[in-house]
Amino acid sequence: MAELSWENLEKAVSACRACPLYRGRLQTVLGRGSRSATVMFVGEGPGRQEDEQGLPFVGAAGKFLDVALESLSFDPADYYIANVVKCRPPMNRTPEPSEANACLNFLRAQFALVRPRIIVCLGSVAHTNLVSAEQSISRARGQWILKKGILFMSTFHPAALLRDEQKKLPFWQDLKQVRQKLDEVKAQTGAE
Ligand code: SF4
Repeated sequence: MAELSWENLEKAVSACRACPLYRGRLQTVLGRGSRSATVMFVGEGPGRQEDEQGLPFVGAAGKFLDVALESLSFDPADYYIANVVKCRPPMNRTPEPSEANACLNFLRAQFALVRPRIIVCLGSVAHTNLVSAEQSISRARGQWILKKGILFMSTFHPAALLRDEQKKLPFWQDLKQVRQKLDEVKAQTGAE
């Protein structure tokens, strides 16, 4: 990619054919939210509605996430939402490791541009690629991990909560932790 900028990133992503997922997309889906956010949420990949609208997390799972964030008084200026892969996998299947790998540099570029202090992995694809391939999401969720000055937390993907009610409480508890950490980080940054 050329010099790191949002414009160059958008161009590179929309022209990308680095993995087979480009074949099924209507359009690429980069991200939504504040580009100077303190928190970044990272999901798996676009679904049908995301593919149609060009925005991540706009389907049922996204609406659930939005309601949860609003209930915990997250300010939209404080978060940005993206996915590991930018093109919709066929039939919404899980992206293959090779597809995630091919796309990760775009996510890294988003991290470099947004410069979040907190990254929340939503589901096992984000967790595996960003935090650890060793532990399952059920075991790893809710724990803070510091990597290169960024705090990582993994939790369930909102789509999993729509299939399994029992995941809702732990997800809510994890988001509450993120909300508290956001306040702490902002208090520190304000004091710097
Ligand atoms: S998923 Fe990522 S790497 Fe694959 S074609 Fe789309 S933008 Fe390129």
